[in-house]
Amino acid sequence: MSALLLSHARLIDGLGGAPRDACDVLVDDGVIAAIAPTGRLSLPDVTDRIRSIDARGLTLMPGFFDCHIHASTDPDQSALEAITEVESAKTLRAVPNLRATLLAGVTTARDLAGADSGFRDSIDRGVIDGPRLLVALRILSITGGHGDPRAINGLALDSGPGAGAIADSPDGFVRITREAIREGADWIKIAATGGMGSPRSHPEGGGLSEAEMRAVVDEANRHGIAGVAAHAIGADGIAAAVRAGVRSIEHGYLIEDATIEMMIERGTVLVPTLSTLTREVSSNAAPWVRAKRQKTIERAGERLRAAISAGVTVALGTDAGIVTHGGNLRELGLLVDFGLTPMQAILAGTANAARLNRLDDEVGTIEVGKRADLVATSVDPLLDIHALARPRAMSVIVQAGNLITQPTEAFPR
Ligand SMILES: [Zn+2]
Repeated sequence: MSALLLSHARLIDGLGGAPRDACDVLVDDGVIAAIAPTGRLSLPDVTDRIRSIDARGLTLMPGFFDCHIHASTDPDQSALEAITEVESAKTLRAVPNLRATLLAGVTTARDLAGADSGFRDSIDRGVIDGPRLLVALRILSITGGHGDPRAINGLALDSGPGAGAIADSPDGFVRITREAIREGADWIKIAATGGMGSPRSHPEGGGLSEAEMRAVVDEANRHGIAGVAAHAIGADGIAAAVRAGVRSIEHGYLIEDATIEMMIERGTVLVPTLSTLTREVSSNAAPWVRAKRQKTIERAGERLRAAISAGVTVALGTDAGIVTHGGNLRELGLLVDFGLTPMQAILAGTANAARLNRLDDEVGTIEVGKRADLVATSVDPLLDIHALARPRAMSVIVQAGNLITQPTEAFPR
């Protein structure tokens, strides 16, 4: 592999300090080999095989994370299509979605239902382009919960990410947790409450009992996987999930003040999926989805602002799949709209997300020895973070040292 020199860059390294002007970053063998003020790097071993990119005018940042995607789901898909389509169509649909995610500047993503280990491994092997993936496979749910999308006559309405594994006791949840781990899950996802897209569950109830959640968390910890992520909308379910020891609360829309304090104490991470909260509801959406959203959405905005301004650790996640793939970094601007500074939003998408996924030894900051997952943009993210939502906002994307896009190309490779 040839070495890569990014010169004259403005550096936001993901450690939280002020940007540094005019830096050179040398990438060799997939990792960051050296960082120095422009012109001060000595390049003895690599000068014959070095590829240089003039990053003057660009801000260089760590590659971003999206901690909540569904690669094999598309927002405009009808319920009928979702339950009738052949499995291969579901899988192949993910190929352009994953590529669009990478080209948005997302070099690592957590798929919280829908993608299995084959998606992850195919990206690792270079079979398809996409962010490095951590996968949860499916959502674990109680009968009638968010992962049990059945109509009252028993008809299963969705075989997509809403369709989960069902159990109804702590022992039952231990078994389905072990099954997911056997199939290669990096994360376990649970339905701590009902949701919007499942007909018989309610966002304010309908989740695992606290004892069931503790059983899942204990089992996940015993196996040393990354952790348990809880889909949680209603206040009681969020609080129970935090007490049970999950690592991340997904959505968290109706969180109460006491739970905000508990999350800060315990270091539980909030993934507020503002891209999904603020989206237009598709005209394909079922009437029950519209009704539930209307009830939740106004209060959610106020509660998430409270959590974010109180200082809960936030990690960037969009629920892409419910919203369009490839617009992932729109979430950065929304995080700022909801109370983070632009620098805090960048950290939510980089260092915080890396820690959440237990990958902070490898990625999430620009430091010597870290894997070279890097993005560079002509946007000044501290002045105009909303502009990172634009297509091709990232003029340079490097993944594990491989140049995915560079400034002179009209189109990516
Ligand atoms: Zn989701």
